[in-house]
Amino acid sequence: MIKTILATVDAQMPQKQIIEQAGQILKQGGLVAFPTETVYGLGANGLDADACKKIYQAKGRPSDNPLILHIAKKQSLYEIVKQVPQKAEKLIDAFWPGPLTMIFQKKDCVPYEITGGFDTVAVRFPAHAVAQNVIEAAGVPIAAPSANVSGKPSPTRASHVLFDLNGKIDMILDGGSTQVGLESTIIDVSEQIPVLLRPGAVTKEMIEEVIGKIEIDPAILSQSDENCLPKAPGMKYTHYAPKANVILVQGQDLAAVQKRIKELVKEDLRLGKEVGILATDQTKSAYGDGIVLSLGNRENPQEMGANLFKHLRKFDFLGIEVVYSETVAETGEGMAIMNRLKKAAGYQIIQVV
Ligand code: AMP
Ligand code: MG
Repeated sequence: MIKTILATVDAQMPQKQIIEQAGQILKQGGLVAFPTETVYGLGANGLDADACKKIYQAKGRPSDNPLILHIAKKQSLYEIVKQVPQKAEKLIDAFWPGPLTMIFQKKDCVPYEITGGFDTVAVRFPAHAVAQNVIEAAGVPIAAPSANVSGKPSPTRASHVLFDLNGKIDMILDGGSTQVGLESTIIDVSEQIPVLLRPGAVTKEMIEEVIGKIEIDPAILSQSDENCLPKAPGMKYTHYAPKANVILVQGQDLAAVQKRIKELVKEDLRLGKEVGILATDQTKSAYGDGIVLSLGNRENPQEMGANLFKHLRKFDFLGIEVVYSETVAETGEGMAIMNRLKKAAGYQIIQVV
């Protein structure tokens, strides 16, 4: 057990003294969790293999799952990657700083320990003042996977980090709730045709508007985890999963979906189970039994994405055993929401016709 320092920090104008302390800890090879616009990250000096080893230990993360390096100015990219293809330059101009991670050929200074043995490295320039100031204070690229225990829903508040990692890391900077609430979009630009490896708030449609047609890793669209190994190693693990058994209920007719969920809930309650429902503002009042949490307005996928992990954690907190969830269309940010939901559900989907 180590003593974890918890410091509240202003999300827009982070206090210098706290940032300096975080920078010192990182320089000395320690671990600091901090907010980004996507989720909370668990930071370590990304060029120090020993420091990064501590990330894997604290999270219980499999060592073949590479880390994303976070930078706070564009120029830092050229110090860690061999080349920046023209399409990547365009994406940088359009979306950095922001929730977009890109995969490049790595330079020798990037240790294989953080790339899972690959010759490529994932890089992101986050759009959050706390994240940017911490990276600058450390003076090195910061490896920062989500600051949760591996397999659990990613943390969108400091309390989630504290719950998972108290006593295992040096410091947590509490900058309030994260805005996006889903992990960054990942696109591999190291090959001729860019490939989307993980959907996020920077959507396929937004990317294609800037660089034209891209490919999607088939694993993202797959309806099962089998026979389809994702190109981003981290995407193959059970993820985002609360303790509850999550089941998605999908269909064109929302009223029919609600009716089926109500029947399923009734039956589970009869069996004495604690049941939760993941609904939306438009549908939540239709459910009488079970614990109902709304992701937000169906017309506002940003709001739904921001609430997803918080609600999955809340079901755990409430001791819920089964969660029935509505689904959304897999376009725009809906692709990212459905990707996380399907993984949380282990691809258990009931089709309502
Ligand atoms: P996290 O930081 O926890 O959001 O996870 C990082 C994600 O990026 C994981 O799914 C990794 O597998 C993926 N990733 C990182 N580096 C690479 C790489 N060089 N090639 C492919 N995927 C990567
Ligand atoms: Mg993660």
